[in-house]
Amino acid sequence: MTACITHENSCTLHTYDNPKSGLFALVAIHSTKLGPALGGCRCLTYPNTKSAIEDVTRLAKSMSYKAAMAGISHGGGKAVLVRPAHIKDRKAYFEEFGEFVESLGGDYITSVDSGTNISDMDDVSHTTSYVCGTSKDGCTPSIYTAMGVLEGIKVAVRKKLQRNDMEGVRVVIQGIGNVGSALAVSLEKLGAVLSLSDVAPEALTACLDKLQSPGSVTVVDPDDAHKTPCEVFSPCGLGSVITPRAVLEMDCNIVAGSANNQLLSQNEGLRLHHKGILYAPDYVINAGGLIDVAQIAKHKTEQEIELKTKQIGKTLEQIFNCSIVEDRACHTISKEMAENILY
Ligand code: NAD
Repeated sequence: MTACITHENSCTLHTYDNPKSGLFALVAIHSTKLGPALGGCRCLTYPNTKSAIEDVTRLAKSMSYKAAMAGISHGGGKAVLVRPAHIKDRKAYFEEFGEFVESLGGDYITSVDSGTNISDMDDVSHTTSYVCGTSKDGCTPSIYTAMGVLEGIKVAVRKKLQRNDMEGVRVVIQGIGNVGSALAVSLEKLGAVLSLSDVAPEALTACLDKLQSPGSVTVVDPDDAHKTPCEVFSPCGLGSVITPRAVLEMDCNIVAGSANNQLLSQNEGLRLHHKGILYAPDYVINAGGLIDVAQIAKHKTEQEIELKTKQIGKTLEQIFNCSIVEDRACHTISKEMAENILY
């Protein structure tokens, strides 16, 4: 059964429900002004439908802002598959999702996100051409996301600490999965002093294995990551980690990481600003993966993708300069910039 309703987060929400196969899919399209909506497909459990709708619409909206700020000719969209207790036939499940995507006529292009993988996208591609990030594409979004975050951190360090290098700069990475671990490897090479934190011990082990001097890294308890004294706190785990309490407890100069929707609410952006913490807006700094996926679909070379990803640093520099000169919060400035493009 498919239905289409409009939700208050300014998204058009398309739903598909097949109790027989267990596929309950939500596709939120926020904007197609700059091009077809592009955004990953999450397959996660949710406490209820309301929270799944909140997640998919919030993410779709931030994809519009992300694409606009990255200069990508796509709108914002996202898919959420409310994961059943057991997926009977994973291949058939994703093929059925592909049919749903196909039925939207190209307004939404799907890709990998939390809980889905390249092989799932291969299955989606059996029933729709509106998919990126299959094994044939050769996308490596996490690598480009980490590259963009590194560029952002370097610019933030230059602006806030008046330093042109990362030697001895203390960085706490919260969440060292695909993006966080790639970021840790790059930062180690630049001489940063790393503290790492993850709720999954196996993620810590895997990351430490990739580092040249794992002995010089401090492992921090997940509850203490944001409180750890450092120059850069880099949230690369889940969203909503910047809460009023977390801001009070933070002992850093800069917040710059890959996690989506880091601020619990817009007020936390203001709290960071008032505390003198320079915040790199999440949808600006973490656009590298989107750039990779969108550019690969346009047959761009690795050099072209890298160049565009490194532009993230330039965009952040504009935001930081404006924040310093006008004494306004970074998230407000980037919102205005994105909305000038979108509306
Ligand atoms: P991932 O699932 O590979 O890694 C996330 C890691 O964070 C996991 O190891 C998890 O155990 C850990 N984690 C979760 N909650 C935590 C907590 N409270 N404290 C410490 N660790 C915690 O995901 P990823 O692909 O590395 O993405 C990381 C974040 O960046 C996500 O929020 C994702 O939405 C966002 N993001 C990723 C990309 C990309 O290209 N992968 C692009 C844009 C945004």
